[in-house]
Amino acid sequence: MAEYSPNIIRVAVPSPLRRLFDYLVPQDSQQKDDGGRADVGCRVAVTFGRQEVVGLIVAITNSSDIDIDKLKPINKLLDSVPLIPSSLFELFNWAANYYQYPIGDALFSTLPTLLRRGEGLPDLSTRYWQLTEKESPINDEVFARAPNQQALFDRLKENGSVPDSIISTEFSRSALAALEKKGLVESTLQSDEGIELTNILKQDPLPLNDSQSRALNNIDQHRFNCYLLDGVTGSGKTEIYLQAIDTALRYGRQALVLIPEISLTPQTEERFRDRFNAPIVTLHSGLTDKQRLLAWTKAKTGAAKIILGTRSAIFTPLCDPGLIIIDEEHDQSYKQQEGFRYSARDLAVIRARKEEIAIILGSATPSIESLRNCDLGRYKHLVLADRAGSAVQPDWSVIDLKSEQCEAGVSASTLLAIEQTISNGHQALVFLNRRGFAPAIICHQCGWTADCRSCDSRLTVHRARNRLICHHCEYQQGIPHLCPGCQSQQLVPVGEGTERSEEYLAKCFPTTKILRVDRDSTRKKGAMKAVYDTANSGEPCILIGTQMLAKGHHFPNVTLVAVLDADSGLFSPDFRSHERLGQLLTQVAGRSGRGDVRGQVYIQTHQPQHPLLEILTTKSYVSFAKTIMAERDLLQLPPFRYMALVRAESERSGEAEMLLRTARQIAESHVMPSKKLEYLGPLPAMMEKRAGRYRYTLQISADKRSLIQPLLASLSIALENHRSARKVRWSIDVDPQEL
Ligand code: ADP
Ligand code: ZN
Ligand code: ZN
Repeated sequence: MAEYSPNIIRVAVPSPLRRLFDYLVPQDSQQKDDGGRADVGCRVAVTFGRQEVVGLIVAITNSSDIDIDKLKPINKLLDSVPLIPSSLFELFNWAANYYQYPIGDALFSTLPTLLRRGEGLPDLSTRYWQLTEKESPINDEVFARAPNQQALFDRLKENGSVPDSIISTEFSRSALAALEKKGLVESTLQSDEGIELTNILKQDPLPLNDSQSRALNNIDQHRFNCYLLDGVTGSGKTEIYLQAIDTALRYGRQALVLIPEISLTPQTEERFRDRFNAPIVTLHSGLTDKQRLLAWTKAKTGAAKIILGTRSAIFTPLCDPGLIIIDEEHDQSYKQQEGFRYSARDLAVIRARKEEIAIILGSATPSIESLRNCDLGRYKHLVLADRAGSAVQPDWSVIDLKSEQCEAGVSASTLLAIEQTISNGHQALVFLNRRGFAPAIICHQCGWTADCRSCDSRLTVHRARNRLICHHCEYQQGIPHLCPGCQSQQLVPVGEGTERSEEYLAKCFPTTKILRVDRDSTRKKGAMKAVYDTANSGEPCILIGTQMLAKGHHFPNVTLVAVLDADSGLFSPDFRSHERLGQLLTQVAGRSGRGDVRGQVYIQTHQPQHPLLEILTTKSYVSFAKTIMAERDLLQLPPFRYMALVRAESERSGEAEMLLRTARQIAESHVMPSKKLEYLGPLPAMMEKRAGRYRYTLQISADKRSLIQPLLASLSIALENHRSARKVRWSIDVDPQEL
């Protein structure tokens, strides 16, 4: 085999420039001392401008657009083996192309911080202590006044070897030091990598019911297959995940599990830890840089067998991937909404295909995209129609707000239902997707309202903090006592947020515990845990909160769920708002009656006759989804067409719109509009001014992905080189989830 001697490497460096940079690898630094060599996926230290930066090798070539004499040599090769395995590297390449994002930024924005700074991988080996060959002290005098040394000595004699961590927790370090000084003990390092699992399960799996068994038996883990596990809340999807993971581990492979929010749903993590002895790591935003790197490294080396994480965990290197699971696949948090605008769910499917492994997308309210993929035969549809165990689906009631007395957003019938629930010894969950006390403050005399100076929005009243706060840019100020317009004292909060409804409920139920869950109430560490503890204790209480309460919790004693305002989702201009509303209502409703008592769901609305609400409350999410699907087909919206948005924002009004007009001209000169490729815009974004910037969008849609992709590629290059692109922030959003 010919000696492979790379000369020129193409390097991604962290910089806003959308391009790669070429460097030379001098003969003498091609190889590290340990035999590793410059390879795709390794890091290098290079001089960039006047600084030394850490870069990542993206390609190895033997030609460059720049004169070879002008290329700088690298300063140092930092890795002897690629940090990013080749299959994952391919995924990055795919994602960078598909989402029109520079590969360098894509790589760097997802890499653990310490690796970006050039640090090495942590040592995963464990130190073990054992007795030396030296003859054991025969007379007990050696330990006469040293019971700690005696205890440790005896333990080592009995066990053979003991990990360092156990000595730290159960014995004294000074006893260990003393024994070492006497030459009685010594240590060795043993690697955790590729540990054999002899005893995978900590807890027995549940015996599956018929539909669960059918679903599990259908999952073939020997090749690429995408399964949509479509099961109503409480139908036992998690149990299927656990058993499928068990299978993957038995094959000696790893499982990657994505969930929308780890901090909100510690119960999910707990279930995994309760079930498996196999080492689990979790990757989420709460980790320190060190913890993150450690977890990342364990995934990469195979020391971790189950990798649980949120969105960005899709980019975790795995040594032997066997199964990917995306829980709550419809959840919006899988789409990154800024910078590298990828969909972790969609990338997971691509990754599974590249790795030739199975992937399970699970949800009680599958996205229209995934249901469409089932219709097209791309995904296999596995259905769990009933709740596991004894619980049955809840009973829905629609409350017509037009004909009801309402206070703080709570109607008389809802109040009565809460009262009955509490007096029966159960818990009620009240859902309102607006935090704060009231979404606006208005002068009763002159009509003045408190608006945000930087956004097209009203300031929200936060009474507990005595502030008016903009929920879009975080601007805040004190609550005025007099109207700035007419000096009257008649400033009144209008509408309701969770704080206001909480206050009212506390007045109505003075002896009942009321727990509020929203971003304000959970700011303090441990606040969420206190909520779980009370909710799980089963004592009668009222939970009131935003969508933080809607996600994946299992509170067995909640028998009533009341949705205070179902209307906001009915009239949004975003074509996805109906789908979101259906998912949210179904998910919230799913919190009701998970125990032995049948649950009730109260939906408050001014539109009781709205056909979508009717389908949702009298039929099922399945029929609801079918209706939405037909609507999308009729209107030729995604998933029946492919869509991309060019977004632009500028400080001066007009500039963003201008750039998008240019973008449209460029696009149209490339491919003429037709039914196959359509443009809409530039249009002002739904909130035109936000945080002091004017925002516009240009929608491009096509009947084939292959039509849109090359267009976006040349558009991004043209925009990058356009003179006004410096004043205007712009981005391309492929498969946008929000308009
Ligand atoms: P999902 O993930 O679909 O919401 P879970 O897996 O959390 O459903 O299951 C809901 C409840 O039913 C849990 O308390 C779980 O322990 C229980 N459960 C799941 N499968 C079974 C089964 N086969 N037999 C008995 N109980 C089950
Ligand atoms: Zn006034
Ligand atoms: Zn604002």
